[in-house]
Amino acid sequence: MTIKAANDSHQLSFWSAEFKDPAMEQAYQRHVLPDTVRFLRISLCVWAGLLIVFIPADLSTMAISEGFFVITGMRVAHACLLLWLAWQLKRRPQWASNGWPVTITAILGYPMYLVYPIYQPEFSALGFGIMLLMLLSMYVFIPNRLMLTNLISLVGVTGVTISQLFLGASTVAMIFTIMILCWPALLGYVAAQRVNIGSRRAFILLQHAESANVTLEREIVRRKELEAELQRQALTDPLTGLSNRRHYEMLFEREHDRCRRHHSALTLGMIDLDHFKRVNDTYGHEFGDRVLQFTAEILQRPLRHSDILGRFGGEEFILILPDTDIAQAQAVAERMRLSLEQDALVKDSTAVTVTATFALTQVRAEDADIQECIRRADHALYEGKRAGRNRVALSDAA
Ligand code: GH3
Ligand code: MG
Ligand code: MG
Repeated sequence: MTIKAANDSHQLSFWSAEFKDPAMEQAYQRHVLPDTVRFLRISLCVWAGLLIVFIPADLSTMAISEGFFVITGMRVAHACLLLWLAWQLKRRPQWASNGWPVTITAILGYPMYLVYPIYQPEFSALGFGIMLLMLLSMYVFIPNRLMLTNLISLVGVTGVTISQLFLGASTVAMIFTIMILCWPALLGYVAAQRVNIGSRRAFILLQHAESANVTLEREIVRRKELEAELQRQALTDPLTGLSNRRHYEMLFEREHDRCRRHHSALTLGMIDLDHFKRVNDTYGHEFGDRVLQFTAEILQRPLRHSDILGRFGGEEFILILPDTDIAQAQAVAERMRLSLEQDALVKDSTAVTVTATFALTQVRAEDADIQECIRRADHALYEGKRAGRNRVALSDAA
């Protein structure tokens, strides 16, 4: 018989209250293992304690006699076995979910209850009552392996029946005994079956929640990556990968404020490729694009992490050099100019080189915004072009 579920792997066996899918059952057993071990170890210790606690009661009813020694020996032996198992569970927690070690240990404890009426016939009703409680307790104390607990009950009921047979009980009395013993076993079984089903259903819900969490976390990571990419795209020139106008203007504001605060130098530069129109006209617009990418790569080479290179538009670039005065900036620009002049891009086995005119201006504390600096640099650029191109020009007013 099966307890149906939306997902095949979530189906439960009605009788054992375990998942029909072994992998799912193993996952559940692994999940509950720490709790199972803790609960079982406590149960075993309480069980051993109860066995020992009754020794003085036996002494008062049996005095020092053969019966007392047999029963006490059995009590102590079983208590030791229970404590040994509790100790072993610490090192071998898998024994708790396997179920067999505890089943065998429980069954090994039965002989004491079975010989009890031989030495204490007047207390057989008490022994019988304890047996009833024992059967019920098994379902409470032994977690998770319902069918093995049923086996323990079956052995217990069979054992009591056999001992009744040896003690010469009538058939009616034996049937009565079996019926009474089956009652707590049935009660315990039904209650434990409900608990087992409930806890496995809770496990399914937990798994759903965990997988929903994982999906959500993945979605958050994906969105963050997308957001970062969108932000990068919003601040980057798509052709060259350099900062776009929005980005370098923002960075300029930040650097300008910082340099004002620290009274440090800041230089702005404009770079304009020489006769770029000719490159386009000779080799095509697409090759022109490649030249722009190549130029961006070369211009970035001598820069520090804090330097900013942006695409101003068309074949013009903008340079922002923090903590750099105009003389230092001139040296940097000169290096850039030479690299550009010397490195070539190949088009149909022809080496194509481009040059650029550089214009530099030192940013002043009183400059209201980047536009003011660009105006000065633009003027110097014009002068540089007029003077023959492929050079580094400095703003007159610098
Ligand atoms: P000068 O030395 O005086 O600066 O001459 P120039 O030819 O570089 O000057 P001009 O401003 O007249 O021409 C710039 C050219 O750059 C015109 C345009 O076709 C080209 N250009 C602008 N943007 C792009 C682009 O994104 N890709 C390509 N391939 N060409 C571009
Ligand atoms: Mg231009
Ligand atoms: Mg140009």
